[in-house]
Amino acid sequence: MELKNHYDYIIVGAGLFGATFARRATDAVFTCLVIEKRDHIAGNVYTENIDGINVHRYGAHIFHTADREVWDFVNRLVPFNRYTNCPVAQAPDGNLYNLPFNMNTFYRMWGVKTPAEAQAKLDEQRAEAVAAMKAEGVTEPRNLREQALTLIGRDIFEQLIEGYTEKQWGRPCDSLPAFIIKRLPVRMTFDNNYFNDPYQGIPEGGYTLLVEKLLEGVDVLLETDFFDRREHWMSLGDKIVYTGPVDRFYDYRFGRLEYRTVRFETEKIDTPNYQGNAVVNYTSATVPYTRIIEHKHFETFGQAVYDNPATIISREYSTEWTDGMEPYYPVNDERNSAIYERYRELAEKEEKVIFGGRLAQYRYYDMAPVIAAALALPLE
Ligand code: FAD
Ligand code: UDP
Repeated sequence: MELKNHYDYIIVGAGLFGATFARRATDAVFTCLVIEKRDHIAGNVYTENIDGINVHRYGAHIFHTADREVWDFVNRLVPFNRYTNCPVAQAPDGNLYNLPFNMNTFYRMWGVKTPAEAQAKLDEQRAEAVAAMKAEGVTEPRNLREQALTLIGRDIFEQLIEGYTEKQWGRPCDSLPAFIIKRLPVRMTFDNNYFNDPYQGIPEGGYTLLVEKLLEGVDVLLETDFFDRREHWMSLGDKIVYTGPVDRFYDYRFGRLEYRTVRFETEKIDTPNYQGNAVVNYTSATVPYTRIIEHKHFETFGQAVYDNPATIISREYSTEWTDGMEPYYPVNDERNSAIYERYRELAEKEEKVIFGGRLAQYRYYDMAPVIAAALALPLE
């Protein structure tokens, strides 16, 4: 590929934000160069085909959205399949339970068969939790443990929440904020769909294919770190779209932002169907990993699962992030939010640089909102 002498946009990062922006700008006849420090495109949604299975190298990615415009946009590039996320949880009592918490979960836990029976059981357990708190003079849940107990009761807390949450966050439930658990839906129907959004699926052929389509006809340089020749890239483009970490852009002058990360242990196994589901959570504190992902189930269903005699699984270990690791989840606590705010003020004043995506905006962004944000950026 021959580089041009000048570009309208230099885009730092070939993840979903950078690639979506590049597609739009290219379609509007702006010239774009994408530079990416990794040896592949697609950022964290990268999937690589290993022995016929698309492996989600940076963690399981399930596309879900209520935004019709975004859904139509991605489906025009590559068809999405009918995958619906229905995780199951292997609990300390040895049973398998359906998630999110719904009538199937309650039936397995308590034998209740109707919503009224389940409601009665939930009310009984919640009342116990409220009474225990009252005895201590507490009226509002002060932490995740109390929030969960008053929301869903002791049985589900002990079997499905406590161990998983402590592994995921590396801290006990009574020192975690209550809001984390408020997101978990409680459904009084036999519905195992983890998400409430009307549109959900996985791109047929994997996410890399989607990003290849986004980058069709766009100049892309891999294994190129913006900071190795910062001044050069700054002068090569009229505008810079930066999707890397915002603190790095400003040489960490206000301090480093923190992240949580996940370590993946990926293994090929000579059996066509290891766990019968894409996602199995391990909610016991004594199992060191939080989940096992079996990648083929994102894209093969029913009998077709057996067409490939082997399978690939990834065990996920939630890990404290240190410098040099892949930053995955921003930690939006008080300290980090205050630091980010100072960087944001600087970023807003930049005339030539636009900051976008998960790392540059230090925000836990799902894929669909990242695409929506890149589609909404004004072109000039
Ligand atoms: P990224 O994908 O991180 O892209 C940024 C790119 O910039 C990277 O490729 C990076 O290498 C590159 N870069 C950084 N610095 C430089 C530099 N100095 N020079 C050159 N290049 C640079 N979302 C969902 O909707 N559903 C899910 O199920 C889901 N699961 C997830 C699971 C995990 C474990 C994680 C971490 C995220 C998950 N997400 C999920 C979120 C999803 O990954 C993000 O929304 C999306 O990848 C964000 O795209 P981005 O372009 O902002 O960032
Ligand atoms: N959670 C849990 N048990 C489970 C799955 C999730 O207790 O089997 C809790 C846990 O505290 C977690 C939160 O729900 O941090 C949100 O989990 P989810 O997987 O929905 O979100 P993500 O980890 O992808 O941000």
